[in-house]
Amino acid sequence: MAKLNKVLIANRGEIALRILRACKELGIHTVAVHSKADRELMHVRLADESVCIGAAASTASYLNVPAIISAAEVTDADAIHPGYGFLAENADFAEQAEKSGFIFIGPKADTIRLMGDKVSAIEAMKKAGVPTVPGSDGPLNDDHERTLTIARRIGFPVIVKAAAGGGGRGMRVVHNEAALLNSVQLTQSEAAAAFGSGVVYLEKYLQKPRHVEIQVLADGQGQAIHLGDRDCSLQRRHQKVLEEAPAPGIPDDKRREVAEACVNACLEIGYRGAGTFEFLYEDGEFYFIEMNTRVQVEHPVTEMITGVDIVKEQLRIASGEALGIRQEEVRFRGHAFECRINAEDPRSFMPSPGKVTHFHCPGGPGIRVDSHLYDGYTVPPFYDSLIAKVISYGETRQGALARMRSALDELVIEGIRTNTALHRDLVRDGAFAEGGVSIHYLESLLDEGA
Ligand code: ADP
Repeated sequence: MAKLNKVLIANRGEIALRILRACKELGIHTVAVHSKADRELMHVRLADESVCIGAAASTASYLNVPAIISAAEVTDADAIHPGYGFLAENADFAEQAEKSGFIFIGPKADTIRLMGDKVSAIEAMKKAGVPTVPGSDGPLNDDHERTLTIARRIGFPVIVKAAAGGGGRGMRVVHNEAALLNSVQLTQSEAAAAFGSGVVYLEKYLQKPRHVEIQVLADGQGQAIHLGDRDCSLQRRHQKVLEEAPAPGIPDDKRREVAEACVNACLEIGYRGAGTFEFLYEDGEFYFIEMNTRVQVEHPVTEMITGVDIVKEQLRIASGEALGIRQEEVRFRGHAFECRINAEDPRSFMPSPGKVTHFHCPGGPGIRVDSHLYDGYTVPPFYDSLIAKVISYGETRQGALARMRSALDELVIEGIRTNTALHRDLVRDGAFAEGGVSIHYLESLLDEGA
């Protein structure tokens, strides 16, 4: 590889291990950075070098920009892979990394900034011909009459969203005029406190949509492709729980049309790297909601049905290579599911950190497990509770689902509580097996069970 000799992995857990594996395959040296609570992480053991960057709290370590840049300097790394979460969509970090002479494995800082503000992202997408949700076409201001007029034009229910929101936070559904102004004000002040910006906008609240997203790869040198779609409708509190690719039951011409619009948008904004365009899909139409300018947790389902290694492509693009795959060469084959296994109570969803006394990983044809767990590993209480991703592949959707049922039955994680039981129920659920449930389906199931 031309420019990448050593990559610093600015993340932890399963994604840090995933990045390390891709680097190793490409003959790239690795630097693991970790907090004081994370010395025992699997990828820290496997990396060529490791640097402790601070205390357990993420603000002191994984969000500590100067500490991460210093670690890259002292280890003489060429590039920084941010993974997902933490600093992955922080434009200032990307800028700082590049200013300090490192390649940021992701888009340019300006692109991250453009897409990080949902209002400017929607505007850019509209310009590029990507279908968006009917909405306020820009931020709301202090003019209450104007806000009311916009909401009436869109039609209730509407959703008030923070331009800087993320992680399923900074949103409020409003069902009628009487509640509108108060909801706008509440969301503004919450957003100001949580995201440092009180800018909010309005969107039509879609009642029973599915969450369908398009994976793209672009080299920033005039070439972009898509790797098809994923359905991530099984969500709890706007957080994805179980994903699949392709999204079931969508007409092929619609699928192609929206994917091609995303590729065009990539070219238009000069996108570089891996990215995801997120849509709501309702009554046969796609509506753009936001773009993620990083690798996503659910990227493996796309890898399973295309055979493209998304993380390796990120590394190749970052090294300055032009995209090696043309759109015509991408072959979609079979179906894949991913279950996110979290260290949490399956009923209360309370985090359940602690020592894993026994870990047994499922296997067999078509099964992939991305996990940093091992016997004796202690899950720290400070971070996201994702501990494993169980991924299944089959020639057909039913085949992939049957393999997932079997794999989840094999999975053993002892010593801590996990949501494996929830997944075992989900993959046996009749409506889910049929395909195409809405973003509210999982919560309605959980309500019934409560
Ligand atoms: P975040 O950046 O916090 O992930 P998104 O804009 O991606 O926020 O929205 C997260 C989830 O919220 C979506 O997957 C969907 O479940 C719900 N949602 C967002 N916008 C709408 C809308 N206009 N109508 C209905 N549901 C929505």
